[in-house]
Amino acid sequence: MSYSLKPGVVTGEDYLTLLKAAKEGGYALPAVNAVGTNSINAVMEAAAKNNADVIVQFSNSAGQFYAGKSLSDAFEAKVIGSVSAAQHVHLLAEKYGVCVVLHTDHANKPLIPWVEALVAHSESHYENTGSPLFSSHMLDLSAEEIDFNLSECKRLLERMAPIGMSLEIELGVTGGEEDGVGSDDDIGADNPLLYTQPEDCLQAWELLSPIGHFSLAASFGNVHGVYKPGNVKLRPEILKSSQELVENKCATDPKPLDLVFHGGSGSDKSKISEALTYGVFKMNIDTDTQFAFAKAVGDYVNEFPRAFKYQIDPDDDTPYKKQYDPRKFLRSAEESMVTRLDEAFHDLGSVGKSIAKK
Ligand SMILES: [Zn+2]
Repeated sequence: MSYSLKPGVVTGEDYLTLLKAAKEGGYALPAVNAVGTNSINAVMEAAAKNNADVIVQFSNSAGQFYAGKSLSDAFEAKVIGSVSAAQHVHLLAEKYGVCVVLHTDHANKPLIPWVEALVAHSESHYENTGSPLFSSHMLDLSAEEIDFNLSECKRLLERMAPIGMSLEIELGVTGGEEDGVGSDDDIGADNPLLYTQPEDCLQAWELLSPIGHFSLAASFGNVHGVYKPGNVKLRPEILKSSQELVENKCATDPKPLDLVFHGGSGSDKSKISEALTYGVFKMNIDTDTQFAFAKAVGDYVNEFPRAFKYQIDPDDDTPYKKQYDPRKFLRSAEESMVTRLDEAFHDLGSVGKSIAKK
């Protein structure tokens, strides 16, 4: 089946179409954390260059940074900054000729009010334009009891679904203390202290799928949780078991769960490819693109060290304005981020797969 959408920010049914195209096509979209116009534009530039669709996501602290660190009301800054960043994407995404999903990253229990405030902005955006400001938000209550986690997700989704928004949730592990976790060499893939259990995925599906669209980040050994890196093996086959359980119990189509890969930085490429075959449509990327950005700035400073000390060289009167112009080193940073994202699009099989109408 071939799909086609108008380029720009996609929400509601269009977002579901994008997701379906990815799952059917066996590829995933990188979800890249951005903190300002440089990183947002670099993500869209990389997507355009690779003729691929992409997800731009903001953490609460990125929203605050976007608004400006000096603002005294940090909560308000997190909200307004996220809205401002989203508006930037709305204004520009279409110009890049690809589909862009707008999302917010991990929000734990204290950040529920941040998500709710953003949903309120999407509600007024929906009233004015017929679509929400953001495509989706994430609620990460994986550190809480599963019943609380899922009932809060249900409450939020009941408010978001009517305006065409999707919710990403996270199911944790039943353990939590590093000490009690141990190594999976002794314990195995059915250890609920290390891996999300398929029964929990089924519980989420039964509660949330009648309400609206949700996606699911499950722990299958990805390192961004409660355990020590290196202690746990990546076991994407856990995702397969979860898909099969939901499919069999609820008589759905194959791979009903829309899965998200968190903490993918530095993962074995073969494990990434394997995860894609089990219905992963989104992989978060932050650490590696941050480093790409920083490394380019560092290299630039090392190349022109005196331009970062003197406006005019005291020894030979060389003017350094051309070198210390922030656009020079920020552009190097953008280009370096684009290069790192080339690799991400390649790993996720999404090069050339944009469904935006040309
Ligand atoms: Zn996560």
